[in-house]
Amino acid sequence: MSHFSLELPTIQNWSCHSCSECCKQHGIFVTAEDKARIERQEWTAADGIPEGQPLFVKEGGWLGKAWYRLAHQPDGSCVFLDGEGLCRVHAKYGEPEKPIACRIYPYAFHPAGSKVAVSLRFSCPSVVENRGRSVTEQRKEIREYANQVVPANVREAQPPEITPGCRLGWPDLLRFVEVLDGLFAADDVPVLIRLLRTLSWAGLIEQSKFDKLDGARLGEFLEIIATASSEAFRADTPIGEIAPPSRIGRSQFRLMAGQYARKDTYASDRSLGGRLRLLRMALALTRGRGSVPAVQECFREIAFGDLERPFGPLPADADEMLTRYFRVKVQGMHFCGRAFYGVPLVEGVYSLTLMYPVVLWIARWLAASDGRTSLETADIVNAITIADHNHGYSPAFGTWGFRRRVKNLAQLGDIAKLCAWYGR
Ligand code: SF4
Repeated sequence: MSHFSLELPTIQNWSCHSCSECCKQHGIFVTAEDKARIERQEWTAADGIPEGQPLFVKEGGWLGKAWYRLAHQPDGSCVFLDGEGLCRVHAKYGEPEKPIACRIYPYAFHPAGSKVAVSLRFSCPSVVENRGRSVTEQRKEIREYANQVVPANVREAQPPEITPGCRLGWPDLLRFVEVLDGLFAADDVPVLIRLLRTLSWAGLIEQSKFDKLDGARLGEFLEIIATASSEAFRADTPIGEIAPPSRIGRSQFRLMAGQYARKDTYASDRSLGGRLRLLRMALALTRGRGSVPAVQECFREIAFGDLERPFGPLPADADEMLTRYFRVKVQGMHFCGRAFYGVPLVEGVYSLTLMYPVVLWIARWLAASDGRTSLETADIVNAITIADHNHGYSPAFGTWGFRRRVKNLAQLGDIAKLCAWYGR
């Protein structure tokens, strides 16, 4: 009998379509069992692994524990990815012989009191496009993955704080999550209005005290402020009248969006020259004058101003994709606490809502790189895969400086303005 039950994001479908994108971008950390198993497989040049090619790269180990990841080919692909875009381990020995991280991707498991919340990584295009079998139908397989990676003491995990210094028990924390999901689920208004409501709700939570409020009374309070936030932003809210983001806010945002656009991989240049190039990019993004530096191959250098003019209505399916993105992250506890740099719930909401302008800024850049002035569905899909690659995973996004930028944007009231600005 398992020691936890699973909370699945029932709105999501997924099956692997063998596009090999994950094998080209993620660092795959291997357990001791994975490493021993792969070593027993005895890979040779006859299998397509060049003579002398290491299979693993050692990380850490100076003062702390060392661990290993799969090595990469010079173009950043996994050492086991073949010329057809297929996994050599899977092809030769079958799926169970692959490292556990490859088998569970794109699923992610996070503590949620007596349950474990399941989320998905939207760096996989099939997740973004909702392609494949319903996650609910895959409960048995997901359960098997969870049994292998979820620690036995998962139910002892502390809930995330609500705001700094304010920590409630799991049942109360999950009341916040439920109301938050309800705000994103309201299908009477576009996703942009739902984001404005969510930001208003999070701002009210930030100003409230919860030391004398719990249980059903807390639930009622959260619903009351959700209703007030929903009434403040209706379908006919004049988005065009929302003020543009402040100059400081735009500069902080560009730096952040540029970092999201970078999609660092293990093929990234980590030399001194590479670091200086990153510094020059950061300066250009902060200044916002001249051309946006092409941070990866899919982008062309274009004028900053080209990303700031209106791009017209979003493609018809963008609302569904973005709504599902936000709901899966919320339901899967993939936006605060353990899954997101240990940040409190309100800060996690701010970071999550910022994904809307980040995705649209990247999508605009992809479209402009292609000479277009309006967005297509593929721009949104690609932008979500690029941005979510980093969100919650890149160590840079959990640093003091990055978190300070998120807080500054919230304090300046610029997150809602950025959503409205890039949503037009
Ligand atoms: S990115 Fe998704 S669809 Fe593509 S190979 Fe990886 S898991 Fe499969």
